[in-house]
Amino acid sequence: MAGWYEPAMNGGLYGEPMDAYQELIDRFRESKLLESIGAIVGWDQHTYMPPKGAGHRAEQMGYLAKLGHEKLTNPHIGELLGTVKPAGEIETVNVREIRRVYDRAVKMPSKLVEEIARTVSQAQNIWAEARKKNDFPSFAPWLEKIVGLKRAEAKAVGYKESPYDALLDEYEPGATAAEITRVFAELRADLVPLVAAIASTGKKPRKDILTREYAVDRQHVFGQGAAAAIGFDFQAGRLDTTVHPFCSGIGPGDCRLTTRYHPRELNQGLWGILHEAGHGIYEQGLDPAHFGTPAGSFASLGIHESQSRLWENQVGRCRPFWEHFFPRLQQTFPATLDDVTLDDFIFSANNVEKSFIRVEADEATYNMHIILRFELEQALMTGDLKPTDVPAAWNEKFRKMLDLTPPSDAQGCLQDIHWSMGGLGYFPTYTLGNLYAAQFMQQARQDLGDIDADFRRGVFSRMKGWLNEKVHRPGQRHRAGELCRRVTGQPLSHKPLIAYLRGKYAPLYGI
Ligand code: ZN
Repeated sequence: MAGWYEPAMNGGLYGEPMDAYQELIDRFRESKLLESIGAIVGWDQHTYMPPKGAGHRAEQMGYLAKLGHEKLTNPHIGELLGTVKPAGEIETVNVREIRRVYDRAVKMPSKLVEEIARTVSQAQNIWAEARKKNDFPSFAPWLEKIVGLKRAEAKAVGYKESPYDALLDEYEPGATAAEITRVFAELRADLVPLVAAIASTGKKPRKDILTREYAVDRQHVFGQGAAAAIGFDFQAGRLDTTVHPFCSGIGPGDCRLTTRYHPRELNQGLWGILHEAGHGIYEQGLDPAHFGTPAGSFASLGIHESQSRLWENQVGRCRPFWEHFFPRLQQTFPATLDDVTLDDFIFSANNVEKSFIRVEADEATYNMHIILRFELEQALMTGDLKPTDVPAAWNEKFRKMLDLTPPSDAQGCLQDIHWSMGGLGYFPTYTLGNLYAAQFMQQARQDLGDIDADFRRGVFSRMKGWLNEKVHRPGQRHRAGELCRRVTGQPLSHKPLIAYLRGKYAPLYGI
């Protein structure tokens, strides 16, 4: 690597050379501290920053990112990784994961990093315009460019079997396309007939219940209360509004949730808050003593998503949860929900309906949207699919899986921002999250006995405590697949998710 670097720092009071492990940790933590400063600056950008601050903010963010990258790729970290002799579990884990991050960072030629950054920042604007005008051809050359760059990235960082593995590794360390392909194929085989069976009943919940008048200020109070009830600590976090909801774990004692409200859509605000609170509870459950090191960091995006989906769906849409909360929701919105029964409300909250847009999809059909994207991404990476042929391939798959033809590319292959951001390999983490959530929940139900009785009383501490101990505290001690095996005794499987969906929909739809 070109450029200069600092001579090895001498630590210790009397100038003794610092222990290589400790020096490695200190240096890595510095890059993570910069990252967390970037996170607070980024949170502000999406919540309170006045619009005219955007230019200066971009400069601040760019500078922080550059500093962090420099810290992380400093050749001295490479030297330390070469000499360090980790002792014990924590040290071994930290060295293993720092090595993974460092290796990936230094294998990427800086020219490639720059070109990707430049391309995706332009491509996002092109994509936004293309989606607005339903004009895929204007985005196609950019998609082609991005796929080319991602191929170069995969080649640079290396992979054993499939170039897609190299992309996955950034979000889901250790996962492989082959393994995900197997689990997704099994999921698809059970999911398609389940969704078809539901559709064939012709049963539909009342559509109007969730789209009545829900005053935004009351939604905020109720959502905040629900997030606190399930265990999000507001002494160590906040909830604010934004355009695209997210959760940002700034560091120990500070985790920021954001959501958006619509006065006639309860869905967005309420379940959106439970979703982000699930992410937040994970962040708050990490071991603060290990902040800035892998032992105190989340395991993978799939595991992160499992925590949000678990609280949003597995808990937040189940009957016992609403036996507690529905009377309270009625008190909050008396004129709106006076004539609605608990049964009607629960059916509305668990409506299954084939639709075009991923982010609006229900728990069952959602995964088909992901499987479709996963298959297309792999074909793009291998070259079996040309970027210009994406709309046709998309629509054909959509027909096969969901028996619908998207009326436009804007409602089809142009709907998501991910590809324009270079995020190939990201989509599968959403369905992995659903799969892990179901598998964890199945195990929690075994370990904790009648957890529904807790939910009926509005008590969530045993559920949260179980997740803290089994999933949050371990940090990155185990890769996601291994964590799943340790917590549940089984490798990742589609069966718990299918069993959960069948169990939920059987009484609602009479299937
Ligand atoms: Zn999420």
